[in-house]
Amino acid sequence: MTVTLPRVLSTLPRVRLSVPVLRNVRGHAAAVDPPSFRPPKPEDGAMRRDWTKREIQDIFDGPLMEIIFRAATVHRMHHDPSRIQLCTLMNIKTGGCTEDCKYCSQSSSYKTPTKASRLVDIEPVLAAARKAKENGSTRFCMGAAWRDLAGRKSGFEKILTMVKEVRGMGMEVCTTLGMLSPEQAKRLKEAGLSAYNHNLDTSREFYPEVITTRTYDDRISTIEAVRQAGISVCSGGILGLGEKDEDRVGLIHELSTLSEHPESFPVNTLVPIEGTPLEKNDPVSVQTVLRTIATARMVLPTTIIRLAAGRHTFSETEQAMAFMAGANAIFTGETMLTTPCSGWDQDKAMLSRWGLRGLRSFEDQEDISVPTTRSELDKATL
Ligand code: SF4
Repeated sequence: MTVTLPRVLSTLPRVRLSVPVLRNVRGHAAAVDPPSFRPPKPEDGAMRRDWTKREIQDIFDGPLMEIIFRAATVHRMHHDPSRIQLCTLMNIKTGGCTEDCKYCSQSSSYKTPTKASRLVDIEPVLAAARKAKENGSTRFCMGAAWRDLAGRKSGFEKILTMVKEVRGMGMEVCTTLGMLSPEQAKRLKEAGLSAYNHNLDTSREFYPEVITTRTYDDRISTIEAVRQAGISVCSGGILGLGEKDEDRVGLIHELSTLSEHPESFPVNTLVPIEGTPLEKNDPVSVQTVLRTIATARMVLPTTIIRLAAGRHTFSETEQAMAFMAGANAIFTGETMLTTPCSGWDQDKAMLSRWGLRGLRSFEDQEDISVPTTRSELDKATL
């Protein structure tokens, strides 16, 4: 009689291996037995504004590959996963800002290498927007280092002209100009502004450790003024400020419970700047960035998630993982305000290597057919 290996094994006493949930150094689930990988829940991808912090924290703390898988599935319910929007950000007024954001080289509270300058003239801004468009960017953002627009009547008029002209080029136009009143938001809308960026930066609890010259609620008031004016809201955060995981969760929770989800969620990672109080902060890990993106994708399913400052510190493969986790826009061009940025050629080559393409601007997106419901998604994947 032939004795086979399976037969021998079947005679051995059965030993049940029990491997406890392992926690890695950050407290996230690292391995479980039985395997916890499972299909997305039926409710994944639903638009909700009643998320609890506990629910979001549970997503955030899940096994990383599982949350990326779930986020990728949600991503496909609401977005074309092959499209990544290219956006370009220009600093139209550098430095000399009276706010004290501890990460920022443009704050007049710190001695940094950034030199203050006046508002850039209209023509160089339009030339930069044309160049961005020629290179494939479909969104042009203009940033000014200001607390607000008080006493800047002529500067504001110039910016309104820039908005009108860039919008006329068929690009989405975004500005970030500090705090806005409802009247200023209305005028920006009339000029054709597509979106206004005003980041919450971090959780409500951690925020006072980073900025003391304006409150969290000041920021939310500006976001609401923008929303009321009919302008899209772009609001996100910065990772690596010294915050904890619960602050990353707190930021996502805060945005998910606003009157509407922001249309855009930029994810910045701190680029430490000499002379700022955070110049010696440790870099944030790529796993933390991926957790944050995947969690944001699950909680804010229709929002465009933008890889913003600090992207150049991640490898191409790490960025591809971020796209898998739900990021679908990148800032590209020459600089990212005062920090380095990967260039268009480099980025277009990267996208092409991963089978990705640029996202068209909202104006010509309507003909992009993407599955939005579970049944459409099921059919699309047959
Ligand atoms: S982040 Fe903006 S508001 Fe804060 S100091 Fe810098 S320029 Fe000023």
